[in-house]
Amino acid sequence: MSGKKIVVIGAGIGGLTTGALLAKKGYAVTVYDQAIVPGGCASTFQRRGFTFDVGATQVAGLEKGGIHHRLFSELGVDIPKATTCDPACAVFLPQEKEPIMVWRNPHKWKEEREKQFPNSEKFWSLFKLLFNISWRFQSRDPVLPPRNFWDLTQLTKALRPDTFITAPFTLMTVANALNLLGLNNDHRLKTFLDLQLKLYSQVDTTQTALLYAATALSVSQEPQGLYHLEGSMQVLCDRLVTALENHGGTLKMGYLVEKIHTDKGKVTGITIKNKKKQQIFREEADQVVANVTVNNIAKMTENLPKGYGRRVEKLPPSSGAFVIYLGVDRSAIPANCPPHLQFLYDYQGEIGEMNSLFVSVSKPNDGRAPEGKATIIASSFTDTSLWWEKTKIEYEQLKQEYTSRAIARLGEYFNLNSDTIIHQETATPLTFAKYTARENGIVGGVGQRIETFGPFGFAPRTPIENLWLVGDSVHPGEGTAGVSYSALTVARQIEQLRLR
Ligand SMILES: Cc1cc2nc3c(=O)[nH]c(=O)nc-3n(C[C@H](O)[C@H](O)[C@H](O)COP(=O)(O)OP(=O)(O)OC[C@H]3O[C@@H](n4cnc5c(N)ncnc54)[C@H](O)[C@@H]3O)c2cc1C
Repeated sequence: MSGKKIVVIGAGIGGLTTGALLAKKGYAVTVYDQAIVPGGCASTFQRRGFTFDVGATQVAGLEKGGIHHRLFSELGVDIPKATTCDPACAVFLPQEKEPIMVWRNPHKWKEEREKQFPNSEKFWSLFKLLFNISWRFQSRDPVLPPRNFWDLTQLTKALRPDTFITAPFTLMTVANALNLLGLNNDHRLKTFLDLQLKLYSQVDTTQTALLYAATALSVSQEPQGLYHLEGSMQVLCDRLVTALENHGGTLKMGYLVEKIHTDKGKVTGITIKNKKKQQIFREEADQVVANVTVNNIAKMTENLPKGYGRRVEKLPPSSGAFVIYLGVDRSAIPANCPPHLQFLYDYQGEIGEMNSLFVSVSKPNDGRAPEGKATIIASSFTDTSLWWEKTKIEYEQLKQEYTSRAIARLGEYFNLNSDTIIHQETATPLTFAKYTARENGIVGGVGQRIETFGPFGFAPRTPIENLWLVGDSVHPGEGTAGVSYSALTVARQIEQLRLR
């Protein structure tokens, strides 16, 4: 298609999905990524026979009608094989030996909630009501937040009378809802919600927007669910690369995009560095899709309106992650170990900095470990500022301290010793900055606070004409499913320009 040259910066799930969708529509798409392996936070690496998922370990949206299922079908590639996570997670509160099991089956999950959090059913009923309405609304592909007339028409087309039931809750946090329902003193329930929300929204009950929380915490139940991919997380990205290339798009790895050029408020192209050859060149483009964080796009783009930059600067700092990757003998794993576990160690401490861990364990024959072995991946949120501006020695000391604490914590549940640990490796915000180019190594999105979620968030349509933002900084937020929605939105917005 002449005159429709599209450059995508970044081969994360968001960038690849947008690139593949646009290539299928006939655009000339080139995706540049600075890493060696595509997939960003949803990629993998191999060591000594083990395959480790770098960040994302579980996937939403693979059920029929789910966003990945829908887009893979549209792109003409096979849906990756996966098993459902049931329970989605086993959550251990401090000093408790029996976990709270987040079952996929809604009846079992209800029974579990009644046992774990008596008298809280009114809260869960409200969640279910808001989730059902929000889910139907999202499945009608609204454009959020709208930035022009066409966006607004897509948003209004997605509205139904029941959508207005959610309106009074738009400005409420989860903590507001707990207060309203007289549950503000239920410390256990609040702690459980804080822990789970931090995983999906970066922030706790006091800050997470209620409408976002209702969706994030309900997708793990039937008929939706969380899935464990066969092979590894890389399968998701490999299928997208196949789709991109099948439809005539090109993926170029090892290319760092340094600048996004603009002229009179319109995008003109990018400056790229071939990392291997250390060559810098400029490429013109009709449309540029940036699969980067909002912090990165603000730095890379020439002549971005000042207000945009100021808004980005004022964002509360996003979290980083400390991740430990263990390749172990299967004897390290207790019998009936669920694939995903979450631990909080002390009610007094914050959620992060090793006071909590989210842990994913491979299953036998799931492609991640040789026979009789397994992978354990544990992550904790961390303040990125702790890791930067340190001498090499200070940095290594901090890493060692976090590693020792992680092993000690994990050793309370797993059988970890020099005989059972075969491989051990860690990632800090510096590692994420290097391999994903995310500013300061921040992970997840901008945080789903009232002022940054849905209608109040950053838009995929940037203030620069023909410059688009996809990924976990924009609606509906983090996770491979979330960024796929943002990709669909941008592909539709670009296609609408052609049809105008
Ligand atoms: C520890 C951890 C655990 C997680 N667990 C889950 C989970 O279980 N389930 C889930 O769904 N989600 C999870 N997530 C979140 C999920 O991984 C991300 O939200 C999602 O993968 C982000 O995708 P993205 O497309 O926005 O971009 P990214 O994954 O950030 O990819 C961006 C890509 O762009 C490239 N890039 C960036 N800047 C440039 C540039 N200037 N030039 C060229 N290339 C560039 C990078 O190299 C990268 O490949 C987790 C994240 C982390 C860190």
